[in-house]
Amino acid sequence: MPMRLNDQEPLIYETLKTVFGFGAFRPHQESIISRILNKQDVFAVMPTGGGKSLCYQLPTKLLPGTAVVISPLISLMKDQVDAAQSVGLAAVFINSSLSAHEVSETYRKLRAGKIDLLYIAPERFAMPHFIDTLKNITVSFFAIDEAHCISEWGHDFRPDYLSLSNISESFPEAPVAAFTATATLKVQEDIIHKISLRSPYIIRASFNRPNLFYQVERKTAVNFQILEFLKAHPAESGIIYRTTRNSVMETAEFLVSQGISALPYHAGLNADERTRNQEAFNRDDVLVMVATIAFGMGIDKSNVRFVIHADLPKNIEGYYQETGRAGRDGEPSVCILFFSRGDIPKIRYFIDQIPDDKERSISLGKLNRMVGLASHNVCRRRQLLKFFDEEYPADNCNACDICSGGTEQVDITVDAQIIMSAIQRTDQRFGIGHIIDVVTGADTKRIRQWLHNQIKTYGAGKHRDKNYWRSLADELLSQEVIRQDGDRYPVIKLTDRGLDILFGKTRLTALKRDEAKAASLGSRDERYDKLLFEKLRAIRKGLAEEQQVPPFVIFSDKTLHEMCRYYPTSAPEMKKINGVGEVKLERYAAIFMTEIKKYLDDHPDISTDSISSIDPYYTRGNRHKKKPGQTVEETYSLFQKGLSIEDIAKQRGFAPSTIIGHLERLIRDGRDINPDRLIDPVKREEIEKLFRASKQWNLGPVVEQSNGAVNYDEARLVRALLLNKTASVAAED
Ligand code: ADP
Ligand code: ZN
Repeated sequence: MPMRLNDQEPLIYETLKTVFGFGAFRPHQESIISRILNKQDVFAVMPTGGGKSLCYQLPTKLLPGTAVVISPLISLMKDQVDAAQSVGLAAVFINSSLSAHEVSETYRKLRAGKIDLLYIAPERFAMPHFIDTLKNITVSFFAIDEAHCISEWGHDFRPDYLSLSNISESFPEAPVAAFTATATLKVQEDIIHKISLRSPYIIRASFNRPNLFYQVERKTAVNFQILEFLKAHPAESGIIYRTTRNSVMETAEFLVSQGISALPYHAGLNADERTRNQEAFNRDDVLVMVATIAFGMGIDKSNVRFVIHADLPKNIEGYYQETGRAGRDGEPSVCILFFSRGDIPKIRYFIDQIPDDKERSISLGKLNRMVGLASHNVCRRRQLLKFFDEEYPADNCNACDICSGGTEQVDITVDAQIIMSAIQRTDQRFGIGHIIDVVTGADTKRIRQWLHNQIKTYGAGKHRDKNYWRSLADELLSQEVIRQDGDRYPVIKLTDRGLDILFGKTRLTALKRDEAKAASLGSRDERYDKLLFEKLRAIRKGLAEEQQVPPFVIFSDKTLHEMCRYYPTSAPEMKKINGVGEVKLERYAAIFMTEIKKYLDDHPDISTDSISSIDPYYTRGNRHKKKPGQTVEETYSLFQKGLSIEDIAKQRGFAPSTIIGHLERLIRDGRDINPDRLIDPVKREEIEKLFRASKQWNLGPVVEQSNGAVNYDEARLVRALLLNKTASVAAED
C-alpha cells in the first residue's frame, strides 16, 4: 500500500544521520529516496560525486526485502560492498570471482531474508535460474548504476546491459531506479525506453561541481610545473593525465626520480600491473597516478584532491569527466590544465584521420570548444556548464582562475597593433607562426622569399620573445580581434573589431594573471589542522590495512578534515562530524578521539572551535562556500586600517587596478566599505547618473560619455556599489 511522501520524512533524516552520519542531503537525494520508498520508478542523471549510492543504500534500511543493485564493473563491486558494510548495511555481491560454495552460501542468506543489498553484474539477468531465485525472495527495488551503458547512443555501450530490458516485466511489483553521470537527452530517452521505466520520476541534476577549482596555466616545462605543484601539496592524492603512453612513462619516471610517490597507468601495461597500480592508488600506498584516459571508470576513490591535465584534452566531455574524478567527497579540490597551443596540431592530426566528413567536423568543433575554454577570458565554470546547455546563474563563480581575482586588466592595444599590422601588411595570407617570425624579425627562408624583411613591422616586436607574441595572438583570437581562416593550413585574418583597434578607434584590454596569486597554484580553502590530519591519516591507513579495505571506506578525507577543524574528543561531539554514523562511531571513533586528545595535550596553544556550536542541519552546506581569497582579505584589512588604494598597492607590490579589483569584490560581497573613501561623493553621483543613462553595466560607454572626467577604475568601483545596492545584474562586461 503506497504511503504518502511526507510520512517517511522524519525517518529518512533519522537514517541519514544515524546510519550514514550526514547532516544534510545533497541535491535531489531526498526526493529520489522518497520516490523509491513510494514505489515509483526513477531516472536520475547526477554528476560524479553527487551521491548516487546513498539514494539506493538509504531506502534499504526502511524497506523490507532486498534491494538489487546492478553495476557494470566487477572490480568495483567489492569496494562498494565494503563501503555499504562499513555503515552497517548487510551487503553482498555475486559475481564470477566467487566460488560455487560462496555463491550458494549467499543464495541461502538471500532466501533467509538476511540481505539488505545485493550487488550483481548485468549478465546475470540473462540466466533464467537467477531470475527464478529473485522471484522467490522479496525484492524491494532495483537500482541500475551507470545506466547509460544500455544505450547504443551513449559513449559506453555494453551489450550485457540489454538483458535488463525485461526487468520491469519480470518484477512488476518492484520499482526500478536508473542512475547515470552522463546522458544527453537523447540517451536519456533511449534508457527510459529500453528498461521500460513506468512514468519515471526524472531528475537531471546540475553539472556544476562547486567544490572543484578550475585553473588553466600556460604550459612550458610541464614536468617541472607538475613537480612544483606536487611539492606544494605533499600529502595529497591526485591524478595526472597525459595523452600518450610514452609521456605517461616519462612523467612518472621523472616524478619518481624527484622523490614523488607516483605510478603509471596505461593500456600498454599488462592487466596485472594495471590492477596492482590502481589498488596501490586506491589504498593511498601511492599518492599520485600518472595515466592516460584509460584510467577511468574503475576509480571510486573519494579523496582525489587534484586532477592535472598535462596535455590538452580533445573535448570538453572528456575534460569534464576526468576532472570530475576529483573531490567526490565534496571537499575542495583543484583541476589544473596546462595549456599550450602546440598541443592542438597533435589532436588535429588524429581528427584528420577520421574518414567520415560529418564525424570529423563534429570532432573538430568539439576541439575548438575545448581550446576556447582554455584560452578565453571567461569564467571556466560558465564555459563548462554552457557546453552542457546549462546557464551558470552567478556572475562570479569564485572558484576558477578567472573569477578568483588572480587577474587584472591591462591595456594591450599597442602590441596588438604590431601583430595586426604585420597581418595586414602581409595581405592576410599567412599563418600565425610566420606572422610571429615577422614581428620578432626572424631570418627565415620564407621571410626572405616574400621580402617580408622589408615591411615596416618587421622586427617591431623584437623586444619580446616568441612565447610572448604567441600568447598575445591567442588572446587576440579569443577576443575575436583576429580569426583563423581555413581548416588544414589556417591563415590569420583581421575581424572588423580588429580593424577598429588597428586604426586606433578603440582600445583593447586583456586579463593578465596576477603573478602573486599565480604563485599559489591550486590554492583553496584549507582550514584544517594539517599536522593532525597527517596523524589521523596514518591511523586510517592502519585500520584500512587491517581490514583490507581502501582508506576512504573507513572515513573520507572530508570527515578527517572536519575532525581537524573541530577536534572532537567525546562521542556526542564525534557524532556531529560529517560521515560519522552509529556504526562508524562504535567501530572507529575511540581510536581517533584518543589521538585527538593526545594531540591537544601536546599542543595546549590550540584554541578549538567549539564543536557544540555546529548546527548539523544548517551549516554543512554553507561551510564550503568560498570566502574571498586570502589576498582580497589582506587588501580589506589594510583598507580598514585607513590606507589609501595607492598605499595598499605600494605596500603589497600590486598594480592599483588589482587592488581596485579586490575592493570591487569586497563591495559586491556586501562587505563594510566606506564608499566616500573610494571616491568623492559628488563624482560618484555623476557616474551613477551615467550608468543609469547608459542602461547597461559595461564600463566603456560610461567612461566615453564622461569625456575624460571618469576613468575605468572609478567606473568599476561605482558599478560595484550600485550593484551591491540593487543586487540585480543586467549585464556584465
Ligand atoms: P557518485 O556515485 O554519485 O559518484 P558517491 O555515491 O560515490 O557518488 O558519493 C560520493 C561521496 O559523497 C561519498 O564519499 C559519499 O559518502 C558522500 N556523500 C553522499 N551523500 C552525502 C551527503 N548527503 N552528505 C555528505 N556526503 C555525502
Ligand atoms: Zn569562474
